[in-house]
Amino acid sequence: MGSYYIGVDLGGTKIATGAADATGRILVRDLRPTEAEKGTDASIANIKASIRQVLKELGGDSQVRGIGIGSPGPLSAEEGIVYSSPNLGWNHVPIRRILEDEFGIGVKLENDANVAGLAEWRFGAGEQCRNMIYITVSTGIGGGIIVDGQLFAGSLGFAGEVGHMTVVENGPLCGCGRRGCLEALASGTAIGRKGREIARLGVPTSMRDLVDGDIDRIDSVVVAKADAAGDPWAREIVDEAIRYLSIGLGNLVSVFNPDRIVIGGGVSNIGDRLFEPLKRMILTRAIRESAAHVQILRAKLGGDIGILGAICLVVE
Ligand SMILES: [Zn+2]
Repeated sequence: MGSYYIGVDLGGTKIATGAADATGRILVRDLRPTEAEKGTDASIANIKASIRQVLKELGGDSQVRGIGIGSPGPLSAEEGIVYSSPNLGWNHVPIRRILEDEFGIGVKLENDANVAGLAEWRFGAGEQCRNMIYITVSTGIGGGIIVDGQLFAGSLGFAGEVGHMTVVENGPLCGCGRRGCLEALASGTAIGRKGREIARLGVPTSMRDLVDGDIDRIDSVVVAKADAAGDPWAREIVDEAIRYLSIGLGNLVSVFNPDRIVIGGGVSNIGDRLFEPLKRMILTRAIRESAAHVQILRAKLGGDIGILGAICLVVE
């Protein structure tokens, strides 16, 4: 017996669904492949099956108060429609209505980065502070902005795209089609690309040795490993990514005067090597009072962030 909330973390390769109570304690989970390559109907059937499995394990006498779903975008949270998602191969899918019709429970939809921001704010490193910015640095750079304890969605719901701030005019090409975005300069993808470029110059870098000379295999993990081992070329690549991150975050600190910035995603795993210089540099790149106030913290939630964030959409 009791009240529960269901969160669906929808990704291009897997669907993770969980049921939790209002404190974020996950009681039941289901993990299965999205099978996006089999088409939209197949992936929707998998989402339904995953939710059905969680409901079944939860037991008939439990009350489910809502289903939240975090999905790759672009999407409309207001309409509950995923417009188009290269990861899912979806085009204009009214997923909220589809799931409400199926289960008779209220459904809310939000993009995955915003959902992760909500999760860290409510259950993680944000500790429900008043104003918080979440940034995830992995293959791409995404973000979620919490203002006065609420997700800041913007007029059309597209706010929080911190990875697509221009930080270099005519800089490297970004996945969004524009140039010089933060994502094109400081994401894991950008770090890996830079590693391959440097290795191809023929300079004496251990990055090449780490992949047995197969330069195409150099990615951000290889660069980070070479950096940790003292390779000066890798060090310069990581330093450069941190400088660009400090520009992006410094701008956000000046604009939003947040209490906390929480950084997640694979690149944040390099730990102090990232956080210590970043904290120092932000002091020089943002309004003094705001820079002195903000805490720069590592995300806390790990693999459950997507499920917990989706639950935040519906938890009272
Ligand atoms: Zn971009």
